Amino acid sequence: MTDTTAHTTAHTTAHTTAADTATTAGAAAGGRADTGGSSAGAGSAGAPEAPSPVTEAFDTVRRTFTSGRTRPLSWRKAQLKGIERLVVEEETRLVRAMAEDFGKPGVEAWLADLVPVISEAAHARRRLDRWARPRRVWAGKANVPARAWSVPEPLGTVLIISPWNYPVNLALSPLVAAIAAGNTAVLKPSEHTPATSAALAELVPRYVDPQAFTVVEGAVDTATALLGLPFDHIFFTGSTTVGKQVMRAAADHLASVTLELGGKSPVLVAADADLEVAARRIAWGKLLNAGQTCIAPDYVLAERSVADRLVEHLVGAIAQLQGDDLRATRTRIVNDRHLSRLAGLLDGCGGTIVTGGAVDRDQRWLEPTVVVGPDPHAPLMTDEIFGPILPVLSVGSIDEAVNFVNARPKPLALYVFTSSGAIERQVMETTTSGGVCVNHIAMHYLVPELPFGGVGPSGVGAYHGRAGFDELSHHKSVLRRHAHPDLSVIYPPFDAKKERVLRWFL
Ligand code: NAD
Repeated sequence: MTDTTAHTTAHTTAHTTAADTATTAGAAAGGRADTGGSSAGAGSAGAPEAPSPVTEAFDTVRRTFTSGRTRPLSWRKAQLKGIERLVVEEETRLVRAMAEDFGKPGVEAWLADLVPVISEAAHARRRLDRWARPRRVWAGKANVPARAWSVPEPLGTVLIISPWNYPVNLALSPLVAAIAAGNTAVLKPSEHTPATSAALAELVPRYVDPQAFTVVEGAVDTATALLGLPFDHIFFTGSTTVGKQVMRAAADHLASVTLELGGKSPVLVAADADLEVAARRIAWGKLLNAGQTCIAPDYVLAERSVADRLVEHLVGAIAQLQGDDLRATRTRIVNDRHLSRLAGLLDGCGGTIVTGGAVDRDQRWLEPTVVVGPDPHAPLMTDEIFGPILPVLSVGSIDEAVNFVNARPKPLALYVFTSSGAIERQVMETTTSGGVCVNHIAMHYLVPELPFGGVGPSGVGAYHGRAGFDELSHHKSVLRRHAHPDLSVIYPPFDAKKERVLRWFL
């Protein structure tokens, strides 16, 4: 897959150049004020232009949404069941594709990419009736007698742009939320995992309504063309830099956004922590997917009195977790560019490498690496690492660790290892992050009813479970009153008596 080709599975196998795509999409978007958004308005004065796969995908899902087909809960549940069947029945195909793309070991692919989608979809299917109910509220003193409630309704058409690191999970879990809330969607998976993207493009329309859910393959040009179209909501998972561009593009149509972004998730290790368990869990979180996880522990701040012992345990845990058969247990770095970037982070980072550091360019492997005492201003400590490198810094106190974290952008996840309730409370009350996990790494992601998302530079909005349903719904407010009583006290002209009554009542 190159930057110049977009593929859609909606109705056409036609390919188009990115230039064509961008032009048509831009024209369609530009013409939208006049045409109400149809690509029919995109043609020039002569013969009408054939719609590009991108606009065709958009028009298809928008038509389906407008038809009202997605509203019944029974239809949504059938689609959710379709997602569950897709992942269960096509496990072998999906796992093989992820192995082909970047050597993801089978069990890891199943555990971290497939299981979360199955449980999200099943959870949504079972709870949909409850989530979709109108939510009654008190109508307030000004509205007696009356009834007031909000009712969740679909936002409309959702654009889902997903990254490569968990290429099935991060494409299909947002789709689950979109389906549950009654939307239609276009999904653009990452070009960096082409085998998985191709598998999704082929399988999604086989298991769910292809008029409602479409996969468009392609790279930045395709994503840009899609962002030019007036989707009602954009659900983006990826880097903070691209997230800003997505938000800018969304502003043109005032589309709402969910931005699931990245950043540096710190680990605080207090002197009273169980160091062996902490080290094993931190090493596990760092090795998972070769550190290419948005909520991977990025760096460790350990209290000085235990820092050396923690590092010893980390080195031991890494050796243990790697296993003997590296081909079976180790995920590759996704491409040469990222491998060079990671090797570059080690150059001049100012610390001491106590384990790892070797780069195997043929296998696209970087040895899991622990760096003790790096320069806090080096790129290793300012950029998101997104690879198997773990910097460890020692701090004089938990206060100092908290100050370090608070001097940097708000992280997606924050981890604290301690056996003290007071330290846990202190960290909780004095830091801000998308989520917190106490005495473990990343496991909060798997709690079905915990909203998952970042804050500020690590993201906007959240999903998983009901949070995902709510995120992709519009909560329409409704007040119902009857014709009578129709008290005159509220209507002008006001006099002293009316005012007295109003002041007493309100
Ligand atoms: P990326 O931002 O490079 O790409 C993500 C998606 O955006 C891809 O589909 C890509 O084609 C598209 N894209 C790239 N440039 C674009 C542009 N200029 N305009 C529009 N679309 C564009 O991210 P990545 O390298 O695929 O993923 C790694 C990043 O994603 C890391 O920062 C990681 O922390 C973050 N991430 C976050 C989460 C989360 O849930 N918060 C999960 C996984 C990854």
